[in-house]
Formats: sequence, structure tokens, C-alpha cells
Amino acid sequence: MKTIIEPFRIKSVEPIHFNDEAYRKEALRNAFYNPFLLHSDDVMIDLLTDSGTGAMSSAQWAGIMIGDESYAGSPSFYRFESAVKDITGMKTVIPTHQGRAAEKILFSILGGKDKVFISNTLFDTTRANIEFSGATGIDIVCPEGKLPSVSAPFKGNIDTAALQQYITDHGTENIAMVIITVTNNSGGGQPVSMANIRETSKICKEHGLLMYIDACRFAENAYFIQQREEGYKDKSIKEIANEMFSYADGATMSAKKDAFANIGGFLATNDDKLAIECRNLLVITEGFPTYGGLAGRDLEAVAIGLKEVMEQSYLEYRIRSTAYLADKITAAGVPIVQPAGGHAVYIDAKAFLSHLPQNQYPGQALVCALYTKGGIRGVEIGSLMFGKYDANHELIPAPMELVRLAIPRRVYTQSHIDYVAEVIIEVFQERHTIKGLKIIEEAPLLRHFTAKLDLLS
Ligand SMILES: *Cc1c(COP(=O)(O)O)cnc(C)c1O
Repeated sequence: MKTIIEPFRIKSVEPIHFNDEAYRKEALRNAFYNPFLLHSDDVMIDLLTDSGTGAMSSAQWAGIMIGDESYAGSPSFYRFESAVKDITGMKTVIPTHQGRAAEKILFSILGGKDKVFISNTLFDTTRANIEFSGATGIDIVCPEGKLPSVSAPFKGNIDTAALQQYITDHGTENIAMVIITVTNNSGGGQPVSMANIRETSKICKEHGLLMYIDACRFAENAYFIQQREEGYKDKSIKEIANEMFSYADGATMSAKKDAFANIGGFLATNDDKLAIECRNLLVITEGFPTYGGLAGRDLEAVAIGLKEVMEQSYLEYRIRSTAYLADKITAAGVPIVQPAGGHAVYIDAKAFLSHLPQNQYPGQALVCALYTKGGIRGVEIGSLMFGKYDANHELIPAPMELVRLAIPRRVYTQSHIDYVAEVIIEVFQERHTIKGLKIIEEAPLLRHFTAKLDLLS
């Protein structure tokens, strides 16, 4: 088989600012060992997130110019609405400035005290919005999804037996909805199978429960179904996406992921009454229903991006380039979540830095080491992000300590990724010298964004 090449040519480039290890050590100290607090021009390869960091196509930039900025009834909105309906088949489409704005609106209405949201794994902003409404979020990913080193085709699946059990034990009256996150971002970017979505939907329907899809990476998930699930290899990405959404009552999405936009999101639903309530909230928080916190040009970019993301050649390149990084570092013995996710490689920091206990934040320590060694910025998905405290202020650690290296869409070339692999392997060889961290300042919600840390001596 020949090399799978990037399915694009580069028309416009952005410089990378080079710096050295001594400079980065100082920059990291000034950022309190939290790379979210770094200046991004001090980062050489930025794998912090794939959110809003993709490269737009020439067609999207052309769309920016024809964006219609009318306050009400803009043709750009109607193109956006029709692109979303074409994929989701949902009756109502509500634009929002990001995915979390859609979550905030939805959970303000369906959440609240005593309510429970059950998911394969809730993303951090999703969980935060649920908890902010007073409700509780419960993650029940399938058993193999909790074993980083075990490879399986659909490790993002929800544990349907655990869902049934929860319903048997607690009844349904407090369950606000079941949310399927595709792909499962916080659980290693792992896909969810069509069979699992179908079965979850069946359980929900039997018990009169709502099922929503957190659809940020619907196209990557559809590609995995096409490649890995029996009966889908001859179906198009669009057909698979249509089937996925056909089982759901609604969806939220961040257009900063699988829509190649720098900003944007939406809430889609089949429920007319809920749609009215959501729009009422939208008007006081985001904007009029035909722009919802976005400029007309953004709506245009999203509408075009949603079509481009379903191209077979793009998805083949996308999923292969993530696996390429995973394969390289796996061959050198670096422990990662197997197999590679769609948008990111997740290093198992608990295994990588086995000399550090979880209350010394091994994931964050590894994130810092990758930045110092090579100017690469990743993000901790572990006890800094999800840890809680017990009554004695002792850390209740997260189940996994991961470092996510998210690959921005259409941004880096194969030589950038080769460099990333070299840096990771070098850090792995020196892993025993890496020190743990302690938190010196933190916020009550989403603390990883702003927490300040210090090195343990
Ligand atoms: C990014 C993301 C969100 C939130 O979207 P924003 O646009 O960042 O607000 C929600 N769920 C998942 C799975 C995500 O990856």
C-alpha cells in the first residue's frame, strides 16, 4: 500500500516560533506548570486541542466573504440549518456560539436538582454544565473502555447492562436523559458502534427516556463504523451519520471539531415544545434564533465544513495520521490508550510515570515534560481535570491519568508528527527524572483551565 498523502495543498502558511529548552523552562515556571496559561507563540507544536484549531479550506474562506450579516432571516442561517438537517434529520436546529452554549441551554431546561444524566463519558464542559444546573452526571463506559492497554474496536460504547441495572435499581423518574458522546473524547477518542447506539436507543424508548448525541466528532465516529463494523463498509459516511442520528431525540455539537470552523455549535432536537423553550433561552443568552451567537460568515463556514468533513479521502487521511503517531510511539514502548483515537493519541501517564502517585498529578507532570523537552503542548485528562476531594480534602483520583495529544485538523504535516514522536520517545527514556506536582491555587469548576501548580522537590 502507498503512503496516504494529505488530501490538500497548502495555500497559506503560519510561522512557528522556535525557542530552546532554557526559554521553555522559564515560560512554564511563569505559567505555574499549567500549559493553559502559556502564551501560544511560545508553543511550537500545539496539540492542546483539536477545537477551533483546524485549517479552513479555500471554499470555507470564500464562504466567509459571502456570509450575510442580516440580524434576522440571513440566507447563511438557512444554508447552516439545511446542512445540519441533512446530517441529523432533526426538526429544529438552533445555532450557538460553541457546543457548551448548546449544553447550557439544554441542561438549564432539562437538568436541575435530583436529575441524573447518564453517558458513556461526559466531556468536561458537558459534565460542568450538568453539575452547574444542580444535576448529577454518571459515566458508564463499557468495561474495555477502562483498560487503556486493551485494544478493541469500539471502546467508546456505553455499558448497556449497567444502564439497564441503573434503571432497575433507581427507576427512571430522575433520569433526565442518556447522552452518547461520539467519539468518546474523555475516554480516549474511542468510537461508539452503531449496534451500541441502536441498543441504547431501544432501552431508552422502552423506558420513555430521552437519548441525545454529543455529536462533536460524528464524522470520525461514522468512519470508524464504516471501517470496523459488520455491514457498513459499502455505506457512505453520510448514510452512516444519518442512521446514527435517527436513533436520537436530539444532539448538541461543537462546530469547532467536525465542522472545521474556528467557532460555532448547535443544538438540534425533534421536540417542538422543548425547541420553543430552548429558543427563549437562546434569545436572552446567545442571540436571535437565526444567528445564535454567531456571525453570518461563521454560519457559512460551518455549513461548508459539515459537508467537507464527510469526504472519504479526508477521513482516511485524518484517522490514519492519528494512528501513525500512535504506531511510532507504541513501537518505542510508550504506553498509550490502544487503539489510537480518532482525533488524538492518549498517553497512559499512570504507566508512563509509574513512580508518581496520582496525588502528584502524573498526567500534568508529563504534559510539562513534553513542553520543556520539545515545545509540544498537550493536555492532562486525569486527576487535575476530573479529581474531586473527600471530606478530609484528600484527592479522589480520576480512574485514568491520560495525556491527550489532540491533532488539529489539516494543520500539521507528517514531519511535524515525526518530530512529536521523537520528543515523546526522548522524554520516555528520561522518565525517571520527572518530578510530581502540587496544586497551589484552583477554581471550583473546570479547575484544570486556570489551576496554578508547583514542582514537588
Ligand atoms: C469540545 C466538546 C464539547 C464542547 O464544545 P465547545 O465548542 O468547546 O464548547 C462538548 N463535548 C465534546 C465531546 C467536546 O469534544
